Amino acid sequence: MAQLTDDCFAFSGPLLPLTDMERLIGERVAPVDGVERVPLRLARGRVTADDVIAPVALPPFDNSAVDGYAVRHADLSAEGDTKLAVAGRLMAGAQSDVAIRPGEAIRIFTGAAMPAGADTVFMQEDVTVDGDTVAVPKGLKRGANSRFAGEDLPAGNVALPAGTVLDAQHVALAAAIGLTELDVRRRLRVAIFSTGDEVVEPGGLRHGAAIYDANRFLLAALLERLGAEVTDLGILSDDPDGLARALKNSSAGHDLVVTSGGVSTGEADHVRGAVEAIGSLVFWRIAIKPGRPVAMGVIRGASHNESAAFVGLPGNPVAVFVTFVRVVKPLLRRLSGALPQTLHPLPVRVAFAYKKKKDRREYVRVSLRRGVDGELEAVKHPQDGAGILTSLTETDGLLEFAEDVTSVAPGDRVGFLSYADLMN
Ligand code: AMP
Ligand code: MG
Repeated sequence: MAQLTDDCFAFSGPLLPLTDMERLIGERVAPVDGVERVPLRLARGRVTADDVIAPVALPPFDNSAVDGYAVRHADLSAEGDTKLAVAGRLMAGAQSDVAIRPGEAIRIFTGAAMPAGADTVFMQEDVTVDGDTVAVPKGLKRGANSRFAGEDLPAGNVALPAGTVLDAQHVALAAAIGLTELDVRRRLRVAIFSTGDEVVEPGGLRHGAAIYDANRFLLAALLERLGAEVTDLGILSDDPDGLARALKNSSAGHDLVVTSGGVSTGEADHVRGAVEAIGSLVFWRIAIKPGRPVAMGVIRGASHNESAAFVGLPGNPVAVFVTFVRVVKPLLRRLSGALPQTLHPLPVRVAFAYKKKKDRREYVRVSLRRGVDGELEAVKHPQDGAGILTSLTETDGLLEFAEDVTSVAPGDRVGFLSYADLMN
């Protein structure tokens, strides 16, 4: 499983900025071993294990980008129309060794290979046909409406770098260069638990002081979106020995174990102690809100080579979501061999005033709407408690307030990250 040292998550500062957290993950966590070859149709969501090199050029040959007439640019008059003899006809896919001679045009269709010697194509809408001749206007640039072999990707170039998380466009490129299979990293195996004496299975018997488990479903869905194989290990009660036993057993066969709840300093918060008893634990007080301290560690199973990374998230579902996308996701990507992701929050106008503490990154749940002038603006959800799940279902994404910002006024611009951006 994951090759982690006891102190890989150790950090001595007071509040760890997010950028430092990302750097620590890059420096101290190594991707898991294990590569498998998958057919292209099953490759979406997987991570390329090596650079994928183009065995052929894309496109493989010079071809026409339009339906029209292929010509030799050197034949064209700079002063007015040029009359050319239509000497042939080339459909897409037609094998031909047609070569164009001076004074000729070849009728050509989109995707057809350019005749040898032709370098420019007129669109059929722009020419005048008269029997076997065609009159083409002046002013078209050499190379117009033509696509050149390798202009998309030369043969031998890197089509997809190692660590690419394959999505539809990457699979399409691999297919376009003729590949049928790709070497990808094996899927990560992740175990999840919920903790808490008050937490019960949805659909199960619920006594008056119990709540249905939301976090395991949140975590399973987030992890599966990122391509992990999830083992759902259920709900653990707030019992130190039971927790330690369950966590120890879970390390076997898993790269990562994620729990929610029980990590703060209440009397029923035993996750810290349980992890310390069976492995090593550090607390990352990350400079992020929402998201109280996140427990990071390594847990060891019965046999010596069975170890897994551990992340203990807070219990409140919104805090679970934010700490997952900002802390667990970078760790998961690193373990999976994926390149680090750079998020680009898009500036949107805020419709509200907001104050925050300096030196921490803050995330605010917002909906987007059109302002009276038609510009997009962000509206804060009226409830900002970390336990308010509808504040996630009724909004579009998170505004990201940078560390150095302390207040914004209506009309200011703040970076917006959609839930889709955050979860991918
Ligand atoms: P804790 O960190 O264990 O004190 O939990 C903080 C809050 O999150 C408490 O109100 C818990 O009831 C709630 N909570 C913990 N686990 C879950 C869960 N799996 N689903 C929904 N809410 C939870
Ligand atoms: Mg609890």
